[in-house]
Amino acid sequence: MKSERCRLSSYSTWPRDTNIVPEALAQAGLFYLCRADRVKCAFCGGILRNWGPSEEPMREHRKYFPTCPFLQHPMAAGNLMAEDESPDSVSMVSFSPSSLLYTSDGQSRY
Ligand SMILES: [Zn+2]
Repeated sequence: MKSERCRLSSYSTWPRDTNIVPEALAQAGLFYLCRADRVKCAFCGGILRNWGPSEEPMREHRKYFPTCPFLQHPMAAGNLMAEDESPDSVSMVSFSPSSLLYTSDGQSRY
């Protein structure tokens, strides 16, 4: 769940009548718990819910869990942004089973 794309895929049953978009939640380090509007941080384990129409995921995350490692240093916490996962490295992985857990730069994906 440290991959933004991975988090985003957890929102397949996210209630669409909320004003909060899954993209913003995933960017804030949160993934969906598939219950009501509960989301959980992949880094500090904090749970946020009862989203108001004008609330921003990143701001609420910081408000309730100011010590979260993701909010302090996203890269150091191991966050993988969606843009980091280029189509090139994905196709490379599918061609070479032995490099399944590694990106083209040799770093562990998970
Ligand atoms: Zn957090």
